[in-house]
Amino acid sequence: MSSTTAVKDPVCGMEVETANAAGHTEHAGQTYYFCGSACKEKFDKNPAQYLDKQAGKPKSGHCCCG
Ligand SMILES: [Zn+2]
Repeated sequence: MSSTTAVKDPVCGMEVETANAAGHTEHAGQTYYFCGSACKEKFDKNPAQYLDKQAGKPKSGHCCCG
């Protein structure tokens, strides 16, 4: 009641309040929230695609801007 938690929809990048999220999915031990069912479906089909986009750390061997 006192606070809402806003998280980022990994698919479209929108901020979503967990209480108002259209859906959520658990992946790799984390819960992701979505603004709409379309985003959730996209994520469910290919979670890695969206997680890669978000990842701030470069993967070893793939440093594009050293
Ligand atoms: Zn979305």
